[in-house]
Amino acid sequence: APQNYDVVVIGSGGAGLAAAIQAHDEGARVVIIEKMPTIGGNTIKASVGMNAAETRFQKIKGILDSKELFYEETLKGGKFKNNPELLKEFVELAPKAIDWLDEHGIQLNDITITGGMSIDRTHRPADRSAVGGFLISGLVKNLNQRNIEVLLETSVEEILCDNGVVTGVKVVDEYNDSRILNAKSVIVATGGFSANREMVVSYRPELDGFVTTNHKGATGSGIAMLQHIGAGTVDMGEIQIHPTVEQTTSYLISESIRGGGAILVSQAGKRFYNEMETRDKVSAQIIALPEKSAWIIFDDQVRSGNKAADEYIAKGFVISAPTPHELAVKLNMDQETLQTTLGRYNECVIQQKDEDFGRTTALRHPINQGPYYAIRIAPGVHHTMGGVTINLDTAVLNEQQQPIQGAWAAGEVVGGIHGANRIGGNAVADIIIFGILAGRNAAAMALR
Ligand code: ADP
Repeated sequence: APQNYDVVVIGSGGAGLAAAIQAHDEGARVVIIEKMPTIGGNTIKASVGMNAAETRFQKIKGILDSKELFYEETLKGGKFKNNPELLKEFVELAPKAIDWLDEHGIQLNDITITGGMSIDRTHRPADRSAVGGFLISGLVKNLNQRNIEVLLETSVEEILCDNGVVTGVKVVDEYNDSRILNAKSVIVATGGFSANREMVVSYRPELDGFVTTNHKGATGSGIAMLQHIGAGTVDMGEIQIHPTVEQTTSYLISESIRGGGAILVSQAGKRFYNEMETRDKVSAQIIALPEKSAWIIFDDQVRSGNKAADEYIAKGFVISAPTPHELAVKLNMDQETLQTTLGRYNECVIQQKDEDFGRTTALRHPINQGPYYAIRIAPGVHHTMGGVTINLDTAVLNEQQQPIQGAWAAGEVVGGIHGANRIGGNAVADIIIFGILAGRNAAAMALR
């Protein structure tokens, strides 16, 4: 017999969990469906933090910021392709989402910066650990407190409609049994499609052979299911490659390493670009190098301020040495050239001016305290900016821009917010902001 819910949430990443918690608190009977054996989706891999402007925590730290500037910098980073209305809403609701998390016991009160931003507005845990694990464990605590039902290893195969109105979903569980769950509202929070190579290559043939930073579940099934019931899509070809991915493990090296003061150096031992430029531009410069890869180089001052660095060392892909000379030997790099590069960069830090590459942010401190560290990196497929179209209420829109009744979407499955390039720290903001909104609106409609 079919089971009845008010709201079915598909996907247990940040967007799905925030949506489920909010929908529950609005009084809805909620279930979360997750095809993987564990909760957290690709969100659990998020590293750097959550962007927001004019937050309580920025004020405490005396950081002057404005929503207007956040909007402009995100629009510029997205090559002016972002949906302006969605972006405006995103910027407006971001500080409220930071407060929502805080009220749910998830405090992001340390603040750093990412490429393409001019101000410290990337919120992260006080201990500077990766934001993803912290966020998911905090959200799971909230699920447990509320006894929200989660069906793991259960995949939604189809969103059911009657006369253009959503009536529920068809799921297949771990035993391959299929069932119908009835609901007036279905929130699709299935994430992006970076791990679906065929789909990636169908939009961007030149990305064939690239590794991905994403978890296996990032297959884009939510986009296909929504298209099947008439949803429109936007920006499907806008696929982000992240510049700094360790190639043997596909492990993403957080932007917080560069944000903490690291530089990028070619095999020739030279800097080649402004490390704090947006991901698309930095990636293009790395691919243009003869080796198509580069080294992230940092010293012990960067390491000591960043838990992620310790994690990379523990994972065994950091090469370290007590002096730059010894590091160069290990990297098979010309010692003099690396020494000159470091000397010149350190001069930039002292002057707070980078005449070579125009880096203006995160000129934190000279790279001069051993041990010195290096990680070999190259770009990998990281984020799919495109996805289904939604309105300002997170209702999924059909090709004629009309809402499909009962269909809601939030998170990476949605297109339009980030335009042609997503800024680091904006994905976590996106999933929380629009997850909360989807939960609220989906519950209100189902309970009407
Ligand atoms: P976001 O960052 O937008 O919250 P995530 O990638 O973190 O997205 O999470 C999306 C989750 O949705 C993943 O855990 C993924 O396994 C799950 N998922 C994707 N497609 C389906 C499906 N058809 N049925 C159930 N779960 C799905």
